[in-house]
Amino acid sequence: MTTRLDWIQQELDALKEAGLYNRIRTISSPQGAWLVVDGKRVLNFCSNNYLGLANHPRLVEKARENLEKYGCGPAAVRTIAGTLDLHLELERRLAAFKGVEAAITFQSGFTANLAAIGALVGKEDVIFSDELNHASIIDGSRLSGARIVRYAHADPADLEAKIKESAGSYRRALAITDGVFSMDGDVAPLDKIYAVTAAHGVMLMVDDAHGEGVLGRGGRGIVDHFGLHGKVDIEVGTLSKAFGVVGGLVAGSPLVVDWLRQRGRPFLFSSAVTAADAAACLAALDLLESSTELVDRLWANTGYFKKEITRLGFDTGISTTPITPIMLGEAPVAQQFSRELFEEGVFAMALGFPTVPRGKARIRVMVSAAHAREDLDRGLEIFARVGRKLRVI
Ligand SMILES: *Cc1c(COP(=O)(O)O)cnc(C)c1O
Repeated sequence: MTTRLDWIQQELDALKEAGLYNRIRTISSPQGAWLVVDGKRVLNFCSNNYLGLANHPRLVEKARENLEKYGCGPAAVRTIAGTLDLHLELERRLAAFKGVEAAITFQSGFTANLAAIGALVGKEDVIFSDELNHASIIDGSRLSGARIVRYAHADPADLEAKIKESAGSYRRALAITDGVFSMDGDVAPLDKIYAVTAAHGVMLMVDDAHGEGVLGRGGRGIVDHFGLHGKVDIEVGTLSKAFGVVGGLVAGSPLVVDWLRQRGRPFLFSSAVTAADAAACLAALDLLESSTELVDRLWANTGYFKKEITRLGFDTGISTTPITPIMLGEAPVAQQFSRELFEEGVFAMALGFPTVPRGKARIRVMVSAAHAREDLDRGLEIFARVGRKLRVI
């Protein structure tokens, strides 16, 4: 007998056949260089825990203190009875860290994008979007109702051509780019993009999810990296990657932030992060502002791993950041590679379509400050062994 839901089974079977079905592993340990995954202790090359803060004792202590002080849940959305003094302190501290006048926090980087894009543009407007932008930018753009014009990846000349082609056909225009592209690990040429948008009166928004805690002085992000303070209109970020907690943010002018408090739909209609989360983020800021040690170690580890993995003969694509893709081509190869790594005690995920384009499947290695040199060496040795076995190197 057929039912209304049979199509789902067919779709799932098709995914499995194409090697694109997500088999989600289960973690039963704190985040760190090593994890217990599906009951097995493995070396971790998967997390966005760039600075090792997700299980840092200072963050845990602050979270616990404030869990006891405030309890668990926020019990209301921010605009009704859910704005804590801790949320405001976090926003003030994030703005100072970023070198801007104001910031507003959200539940996640994903909702920060939905909030910002929907509040800035609507049906009469246009969005110029890098073709490899993150899914949350794509979804936020679609929800806004604005016309979406994609420009070639990290290509300011194509952006300018697209802006010129669209001239006169819209009310407002917004250009959006990832700061660090999460699948390739390359950095957007934000200085050149800014020059184009400024020349044409287009608003500029950057999603710095993989740049915060990574790029710029002491991890202040991509705007700091390019010295573009006060020039980028909207900086979106996440508190769930290098910050090691959970949440999202928009940093910029008081005008933008005030507008998002009035019109950012995820801010208005969904509850905020808990007191424990906000307190842990404040502890992360304390650490970032007190020393560049963790950021320095992240880059030292990144340099070492990239040099050695390239020397082994692997292709790491165009990455210039701790995100290190190992390009493998077809999705089933990448999936087999990941399984073999896991057998050998290394946890590194295979990424295939639709996360990356078809035929560009890869293993994505995330290097962090939490890795000791011995961890990296152990990982490299196992990559070499699996690479030879599967005839990739
Ligand atoms: C991870 C990521 C997000 C989502 O961040 P969350 O806080 O996990 O929701 C948004 N944008 C980019 C570019 C990302 O890499």
